[in-house]
Amino acid sequence: MSIEIKPLDVAKRGACPAEFSFGATFSDHMFTQEYQVGKGWHQAEITPYHALSLDPSAAVLHYSQEIFEGLKAYRNPNGNINLFRPLQNCRRFNRSAERMVMPQVDENFHLEALKELIKLDHAFVPDKPGASLYIRPTMIATSPKLGLGASSSYMHFIITGPAGAYFQGGFNPISVFIADKYRRAVVGGVGEAKTGGNYAASLYASEEVAKKGYSQVLWLDAIEGRYIEEVGAMNICFVYEGKTIVTPSLSGSILPGITRDSILKLAPTLGYEVSEQRLDVNQIVADIKSGKITECFGCGTAAVISPVGSLCFMGEDFVVNNNQTGPVSKHLYDQLTGIQYGTVADPFDWIIEV
Ligand code: PMP
Repeated sequence: MSIEIKPLDVAKRGACPAEFSFGATFSDHMFTQEYQVGKGWHQAEITPYHALSLDPSAAVLHYSQEIFEGLKAYRNPNGNINLFRPLQNCRRFNRSAERMVMPQVDENFHLEALKELIKLDHAFVPDKPGASLYIRPTMIATSPKLGLGASSSYMHFIITGPAGAYFQGGFNPISVFIADKYRRAVVGGVGEAKTGGNYAASLYASEEVAKKGYSQVLWLDAIEGRYIEEVGAMNICFVYEGKTIVTPSLSGSILPGITRDSILKLAPTLGYEVSEQRLDVNQIVADIKSGKITECFGCGTAAVISPVGSLCFMGEDFVVNNNQTGPVSKHLYDQLTGIQYGTVADPFDWIIEV
């Protein structure tokens, strides 16, 4: 199958605006393809960014059969564009699809769609430091039927848009609130999948902690409410004595982050030890108090690395590294973003240049 490209007239095309914020400005074009049971994927095209027309009974609107992804493209020093681990990202999209009873997309075709779209909208890839093009692949169930069951038709689409620094405060420590009342996901549920319902279900707790003055919720496991899982839309890492990076093992209810995986592979090459463990919140709090934990940070595509300056547990705030950005967080941030922007060598073949 080939992708039919129906571009905007050159005269009507835009470019990256001088001011933009994450997820609020979109590039000129989008990719779409349709799926029908018995027919497979068809009608792959790149067209001007447009509103979708959906039947009000479309399954996605009622039972949330949908998945999405997030990855970024970075302007490199040659003026070309670097995609960071796009196949890894597509594999997670397909794992989410499987869990949500949705069809698989062809990895290479998905990559080709990404490349074509980014080539066409290259003017939207910012060249400001710290900025990038955010890419949002999505799949929705489109069958017009209210009977509960997997849809027989789907739409796969990709939209993109320039993204600046994710957190308003830039690379400054954030405060997190360890959820005591609410849980994000349970083992056997869909926490490992990148599906909208996980995010909708997190909004209530996020709003509550925002009112208390915290910027993110740190989630505990849903069975015992005792083991650390992840923070907002990021995985979480703790640094012990400036040299060992510890992160919760993939429990079945955590999203397996690509940034997390990249840190687990990159950090040993920079002289750090890494460890994936079941992390008891009481032990973590004790290790922060005793000073064994010297840094804490969240990691994810949007923020890359976000230092955590304080964690509130059972009404008490525990401050890490004097609420300052620590050297390990900074080192990892510099190295990882260096690979992404093409200013640091990429020994892992993570970059696909467009
Ligand atoms: N956890 C959740 C719940 C997320 O939404 C994300 C963002 N995709 C992450 C972790 C980090 O994943 P990644 O590093 O692949 O962006």
